[in-house]
Parts: sequence; C-alpha cells; structure tokens
Amino acid sequence: MMAWDFETDAEYQVLLDWTADFVEKKVAPLDMVLGSAMEYQDPDFIRLVRPLQQEVKEMGLWACHLGPELGGLGFGQLKLALLNEILGQSRFASVVFGCQAPDTGNAEILAHYGSDEIKAKYLQPLLNGELASSYSMSEPQGGADPTQFRCMAVEDGDDFVINGEKWFSSNARFASFLIVMVVTDPEASAHGRASMIVVPTDTPGVEIVRNVGVGDEPPGHGTHAYVRYTDVRVPKQNLLGPRGQGFAVAQTRLGGGRVHHAMRTVGQIKRAFDMMCQRALSRTTKGEMLADKQMVQEKIADSWIEMEAFRLLVLRTAWRIDQFNDYVKVRKDIAAIKAMMPKVYHDVVSRCIQIHGALGVSNELPLSGMLLSSYVMGIADGPTEVHKVTIARQVLRDYESTEGLFPDYTLPNRRAAALDLLGHEIEREVEAW
Ligand SMILES: Cc1cc2nc3c(=O)[nH]c(=O)nc-3n(C[C@H](O)[C@H](O)[C@H](O)COP(=O)(O)OP(=O)(O)OC[C@H]3O[C@@H](n4cnc5c(N)ncnc54)[C@H](O)[C@@H]3O)c2cc1C
Repeated sequence: MMAWDFETDAEYQVLLDWTADFVEKKVAPLDMVLGSAMEYQDPDFIRLVRPLQQEVKEMGLWACHLGPELGGLGFGQLKLALLNEILGQSRFASVVFGCQAPDTGNAEILAHYGSDEIKAKYLQPLLNGELASSYSMSEPQGGADPTQFRCMAVEDGDDFVINGEKWFSSNARFASFLIVMVVTDPEASAHGRASMIVVPTDTPGVEIVRNVGVGDEPPGHGTHAYVRYTDVRVPKQNLLGPRGQGFAVAQTRLGGGRVHHAMRTVGQIKRAFDMMCQRALSRTTKGEMLADKQMVQEKIADSWIEMEAFRLLVLRTAWRIDQFNDYVKVRKDIAAIKAMMPKVYHDVVSRCIQIHGALGVSNELPLSGMLLSSYVMGIADGPTEVHKVTIARQVLRDYESTEGLFPDYTLPNRRAAALDLLGHEIEREVEAW
C-alpha cells in the first residue's frame, strides 16, 4: 500500500474550518481585553472564557492532546498539529480548547505514570480545565544540564521531604500542583539520580520567591516562578514512575511538549507571514508597491520556503509519533523541529518587522514580542545546541567509519570496485586511473 498523502480528510477539514472561524471571531478578541489566560478563577475568565470552552466541548474538540486510551478525547498528533496551527495564532486559544502548555505535557506524565488516586485527583480535573499545573524542573544553577540538579527528596516514613530551589516554573502562581524533578538517589549514575513527584502547591514549605517575567514585563506580572521548597512533605504515592527514572519520565512530557510548541509556532509564523504579505501589497514607495521590489520579494519567498519546510517537518514528526507511539523512536525528529523552530520564527518575524518599517518595531504591532518569543523557543525545553547534538548523535548511529586511508567512496576506489564487478563485460579497454 502506498501512503504518502498531504491531504486532510474532508470530515476533519470541516472541524478545522469551524475552528479557524471560531478563533478569529470569538477567541482572538479575548487577547486584546483580558490579562493572563491562566487565571481560571477570575470573574472575567468565568464569564467570557468558560462559555467558549463549552462550545469547544460540544464540537468534540476539547483536550485533544491525549488519546482515549489515556483518558482524553484526542485523535492523534497529526490532527492535533493541524488544529494547533490555528490555535497558535491566539494567546487564549489553547486554553479555550483545553490543550495549553504546560498542562498538556503534565497530563501526559500523569496519564502514563500516575496512580489511580493521582489520576482522579489531578489528571481528570486538569483535562476538564478545572485547574492549572506547573512543571518544576530547571534550577537556578543550570537548566540545560539536569545532572547538575540539587533539589533533594529524602525518605521519611511514608513521605518524601523535599528541599531545594527551582527556576522558571511556568504558571506556578496559578497552579494547584507542581510536577517536580527531585534528586532521590544522589549516589546513582548521572541519569538514575532523579525522580518525578507531584507536589500540591498549597503544601507547607512551597514558596514562590518571585514571579519572573520575560522581556519587559513589569515586575510582579511574570508567570515564571522562582520556587523554593523547604521541608516540603508529600506522600510516597505521589511519585510518578519508578524511583530514579525521573529523566525517562521527563521525556514523556518534554517530547510531546516540544512538538506542541512547534505546532503552535507554525501558527505564529503564519501570522507574521500574513502581515508581511498584506503590508507589501498595501504600501507604495518610489512609485511602486513594496511587493514589486525584488528585495521585498526575496524576503517573502525566503519566508514562505522556510515556513512551509518547517510546517512539513512538524507534520511529518506528528505523523511519525502516531505511527510509533513511542517518543524514543522519534527523538531525532522532535529534536529537529525544536532546533529549526526558533530560527524560522526569528527570521520570518525579523523580515516582517523590516517590511513594516517604524510600525514594525512599534508597540502597535505584536512583532517585538514575537521576536522575543523566537528566542524563548530556542531556550525553553532545552537550548537549540543540545537538540542539535541529539540530532547529530542519532544521525551518526546509522553510519559506520570507513577503513583505509582513502575511503571506499573516493572515485578511484569506486571505479576499481566497478571494474571488478563489470570490467569483464566491457569490450573497450578501460584505462586505470
Ligand atoms: C519562557 C520560558 C519558560 C520556561 N518554563 C519552564 C518550566 O515551566 N519548567 C522548567 O522546569 N523550566 C522552564 N524553563 C527553563 C528552561 O527549560 C531552561 O531555561 C533551559 O533548559 C535552559 O537552561 P538555562 O536557562 O539554565 O540555561 P543554561 O543551561 O545556563 O544554558 C545557557 C546557554 O548555554 C548554551 N548551552 C547550554 N548547554 C549547552 C551544550 N550542551 N552545548 C552547547 N551549548 C550549550 C546554550 O546557548 C544555552 O542557551 C523555561 C524557560 C523559558 C525561557
């Protein structure tokens, strides 16, 4: 059977069209009038967002990130990718559709590793959009190298007692619980020291030292918490997955999380690209449209090529996740879209700024924020450099070293091999090189 198809099912396309219209007309306006999309108890949120969530539920598009086997309503990563491209264009859209970060990744961990009790207490309300969660892994002294983590959990009777600090725990200020990576086995090998554990945010000893913002967000408005854990006591049953396997458990979450970011970023890039094209067709200088200037055309062409290439790689990665249902088998693909994302996002937004002139850098377009987001995409969930190392290592696994001073693929060696194989069938005399 030949299956290499770039078409969307007509039935699903109807849902995508509904989503695009719904997001544009009903959800995107929220971005202009409401603050954080995570303030679930805010009266404006309850009044304006909850009814939209209900509409999404009635359309069967709620919390599509988890498949039915994991307690969600989802329908696979490929369909989710096509949906997320649309949701990525609005700040509120993921929350309205119940598939916002970091809750998606956290739900995935809970679904895979939580006990029935943990699932009932946290997963179901999380999937229902009743509460928010936070993922607390990075530490002030190092995020990209988890072997440096120091936040410790020590056994005491039926509990673990946690002491340490975490950095950039997004949405901790809104969260009912944190999924925390803790060192439980300090003597074990570098990748067998840590475990993952659920910590309710109201546990005594959990303290938000400060909420850090991104860019020029005013102090106090940030959503990335510097968290201190002082003698925080949680039951051993809160452990997610086997003790010492925190890194493996983290991959469950980070794999999906990175793909979902990439899907939404396709939407952000498309947004910048649309603005760029509209401006090029609307502005005249020196007697002709910007769109008629070749250097502007080059910007549009380069942006389109990069955007489409990125989108196809994201969709193929989503398709491969659905095929294998195993993040380990798609590590290279996920690392590739993670590494490609900040550059494409940055380059398209930069060109969009340039084409808009002063308006592009002004605070009357969202472009400077998008530019900063492109840098965030190159840091959060692991820096680009680390993902490139992963890609190279995975790629090189499929190759072997060559023997001899001159490798087999040099032309003289290939010619000699070809003559060995075919020389007796060739009538004319072939000169040796
Ligand atoms: C907006 C945002 C949200 C975040 N949300 C969360 C969250 O919810 N939970 C959480 O736990 N963490 C979160 N993080 C933290 C994030 O995971 C870390 O910032 C990231 O892992 C990098 O760690 P670091 O900032 O300590 O940088 P460092 O580890 O200090 O690295 C700094 C730089 O050094 C270079 N570098 C690092 N390692 C290598 C290498 N092996 N090879 C070559 N160069 C290298 C890279 O240029 C890198 O950017 C968030 C970060 C951001 C920006």
